[in-house]
Amino acid sequence: MSSKLREECGVCGVWNHPDASVLIYYALYALQHRGQESAGIAVSPGAGEPLSLYRGMGLVSEVFSGEDIDRLQGRSAIGHVRYGTAGSNSLLNAQPLVVRLKSRSLGLAHNGNLINATQLRRELEHSGSIFQTTSDTEVLAHLTARDGEVDIEEGLLAALRRVRGAYSLVMLTPEAMYAARDPHGIRPLCLGRVGDGLIIASETCALDTAGAEFVRDVQPGEFVRIDHSGIHSRRISREEVRPAPCVFEYIYFARPDSNLAGSNVHQVRKRLGEYLAEDHPVVADVASGVPDSSISAATGYAEAADIPYEMGLVRNRYIGRTFIQPEDRLRQLGVNLKFNPLHKVVRDARVVLVDDSIVRGTTSRALVELLKEAGAREIHLRISSPPYRHPCPYGIDTRSPGDLIAAGRTVAEIQKLVGADSLGYLSEERVTEAAGGCPEDFCTACFSGRYPVPVDEDGGSSLMESDERE
Ligand code: SF4
Repeated sequence: MSSKLREECGVCGVWNHPDASVLIYYALYALQHRGQESAGIAVSPGAGEPLSLYRGMGLVSEVFSGEDIDRLQGRSAIGHVRYGTAGSNSLLNAQPLVVRLKSRSLGLAHNGNLINATQLRRELEHSGSIFQTTSDTEVLAHLTARDGEVDIEEGLLAALRRVRGAYSLVMLTPEAMYAARDPHGIRPLCLGRVGDGLIIASETCALDTAGAEFVRDVQPGEFVRIDHSGIHSRRISREEVRPAPCVFEYIYFARPDSNLAGSNVHQVRKRLGEYLAEDHPVVADVASGVPDSSISAATGYAEAADIPYEMGLVRNRYIGRTFIQPEDRLRQLGVNLKFNPLHKVVRDARVVLVDDSIVRGTTSRALVELLKEAGAREIHLRISSPPYRHPCPYGIDTRSPGDLIAAGRTVAEIQKLVGADSLGYLSEERVTEAAGGCPEDFCTACFSGRYPVPVDEDGGSSLMESDERE
């Protein structure tokens, strides 16, 4: 498992635009941080014709050539970037997934993780369904096929009412584009306008990149149909469910230039840094952030503590996804390759080092060592989230509490293990306050263990894969 948490997927869709596949291509570039293992686009060439699909392994820039995009002709398209939780990381599981339902073509692009997928798959196989992939999204396709013989929309809704967990979905048929967000709204999804057309994307940064204008978020539990008569909205669940969007999107996953539920992610992170300075003050000379995701929080800390913000670490931006994570005993080498300390900034300084989270602790320990070797006098680690103690079953690649340094340990024990002179975490209340609410308004399960969608005894894993990632 990576020492950093990874978001699993980004999705987008464009309806009724002459350059649909080009806009999707740009939107996928903007969503690249949400998945770097595969990318794909499915396009509708027109009413009555099956969707065309192009997918590949790698970054968006590696998967698509200009000719590939030119070939994907049509006024409506959906796209996907994947890191992948449920299902192996092979091309077979790359998305969009395109299936034939009787005589109709349906494309699906999914961000999230369905926690009852294994059970549903067993039931479906028992009654004759044959699966092509190990992805949980295919479970949704088979459920839709079962109920959607007459009407795809009713089939999709019936399928969504049976799955549990996290999903932000964009789906395409030649006649309509659909978007759906699970009743808790765990993963983000927003809607925009581009020219005469409409666009759906995981984050608003994709709308900006595609030259679109933000219209609104897709609401938790909302099912949207977009067709030539406009936007039509329905509820997925008949019950009232309390929304619980993932608070970690604010802390780390989303891009700082995105807005989630009206809050700008950079500004929320800056507030997290300010709260850290208020709650865990320390006498220090400089504040620094672990690049890139913690820079907003570190600037907030520096401003609130009235100490200079300095670039204490420089990150090598050209380490690709093929970078082989070394084993723990060589972890320092991997960190040296990724980060270089600015000796002149940190030498003899008391440094506040702000990071968004500590997952395994190996990187934090290596960074503290790196800065001390560069001459820092003291390292005060400040984390802009609470201790990460519980695995996430909703589409983030944490597997078991054994992978998490904070599971079963006190803050003092963690501090000792990472070698910092002091360690301070933000509380759940402060994190959710910075994001504009209180703990009950968000999913905070990886900190609190309170899972908004109850997980099974096995930890809610719906993983159908046998491969493990480092
Ligand atoms: Fe987000 Fe944590 Fe909830 Fe997963 S468990 S959805 S990472 S807040």
